[in-house]
Amino acid sequence: PLDYAPAPESRAIVDLQPSYGLFIDGAFTEGADGRTFKTVNPATEEVLAEVTEATDADVDAAVAAARRAFRGWSRMPGRERAKYLYRIARILAERSRELAVLESLDNGKPIKESRDVDLPLVSQWFFYYAGWADKLSYAGLGADPRPLGVAAQVIPWNFPLLMLSWKIAPALAAGNTVVLKPAETTPLTALLFAEICQQADLPPGVVNIVTGAGATGQALVGHPDVNKVAFTGSTDVGRQIARTVAGTDKRLTLELGGKAANIVFEDAAMDQAVEGIVSGIFFNQGHVCCAGSRLLVQENVYEEVMDRLKRRMTTLRVGDPLDKNTDIGAINSREQLDRITALASTGDDEGAERWSPPCELPTSGFWYAPTVFTGVTQAHRIAREEIFGPVLSVLTFRTPDEAVAKANNTPYGLSAGVWTEKGSRILAIADRLRAGVVWANTFNKFDPASPFGGYKESGYGREGGRQGLASYLTSSVLQEGETA
Ligand code: NAD
Repeated sequence: PLDYAPAPESRAIVDLQPSYGLFIDGAFTEGADGRTFKTVNPATEEVLAEVTEATDADVDAAVAAARRAFRGWSRMPGRERAKYLYRIARILAERSRELAVLESLDNGKPIKESRDVDLPLVSQWFFYYAGWADKLSYAGLGADPRPLGVAAQVIPWNFPLLMLSWKIAPALAAGNTVVLKPAETTPLTALLFAEICQQADLPPGVVNIVTGAGATGQALVGHPDVNKVAFTGSTDVGRQIARTVAGTDKRLTLELGGKAANIVFEDAAMDQAVEGIVSGIFFNQGHVCCAGSRLLVQENVYEEVMDRLKRRMTTLRVGDPLDKNTDIGAINSREQLDRITALASTGDDEGAERWSPPCELPTSGFWYAPTVFTGVTQAHRIAREEIFGPVLSVLTFRTPDEAVAKANNTPYGLSAGVWTEKGSRILAIADRLRAGVVWANTFNKFDPASPFGGYKESGYGREGGRQGLASYLTSSVLQEGETA
């Protein structure tokens, strides 16, 4: 039931403009041909703003600005670059409430997540990489590693600011300049970030933001004067980008989809495990590439886990993203809602059993009730394909070997979770899981010091930690060999 109290005062802290331009060479500018697109609040379908759609000429201008800025930025002593990054990190922390509200308005995620999870991580990412800017010789790439040049960065809509920070913070710390394209359904916080770059007196051209849809992204990654491409999004678009970049000297990292197994053994601490299952799949409406969308439960505790899980799901509040009591917000777009609806309905057609708690969804906006499918087998599409919504598929296993085999039976390999009180089992299972991240007795935990990235079709390259920095540097050892 929708018993939340709307919190209109939260919205008032955002100074929403009717229209937004591109951020190129340190200034906001209208696009070359005046084309715009609308960004809407997915919880109400209200138009939030008109945003400029960048053309090829705008992308050209942004890349040229980044190229001009590269000389000064890359030669600036690391400790000076660090000052800018620390300044940005501090402003992000100071303005975090405003940023969190804008993120929830544009994305639909619950304010308690944008405020307590996304925004703290966003500023942590800048603080963390600020600390690396004058220590690049410790990155393990030789005594004097060099930045790559201009980085083209394309990000999705599920964690708009957090994905921006994962991309921009290491790139800048390493001495690169960037042109970033946010997703077309969530451009607003990236544009507020641009304003923060101005507030921090970041030299013009070091960060450029171009807004638009796939065509703008394509123009950016295909631009001949780009040295590095970093992409987070769907596996299909990732493949397309890999083809575009093939045969050039651009460096590429890809963070793509996932279908993570969350494995619950009979000896798990059940209260904790059920919380982990719920947050694993319902955090951010399940719009999470590492969501625990496949629950693997040991057969002898199946009834107990399902009972507890269903009871817990009845307490989830679905509704107004700006209400601090909301657990599940709006689906980000009508397209995503249609994708979720279509894929989940294959679960019904293929004979899995659907269950959702009683839950009254708002009449306008894009919503999907938290859903669990039981009786799922490996053959079902809902066990194999990424739904990217609040839909959990439950499978069972008898032995640890069977758990590992089922967990690995996917083209993806981004993350996994293991729930057991046996430390030796955690280590043994984690070692055999083909996943970039394995969480033990927890899920969806992130830290800037810890590298994140996929195996198999979940992509390649790592973001976070020293490894994430390496994606933006050329080894000085290799460089000597190459240029000799
Ligand atoms: P998408 O891949 O369509 O879009 C991601 C970004 O790429 C957006 O900014 C988009 O404008 C841009 N883009 C689209 N086509 C492009 C092209 N040809 N060249 C360059 N850029 C292009 O993903 P989406 O629609 O935002 O999300 C759908 C799927 O993406 C999800 O179902 C999920 O599988 C995956 N996803 C993964 C992650 C992750 O972190 N790994 C995050 C979000 C989404």
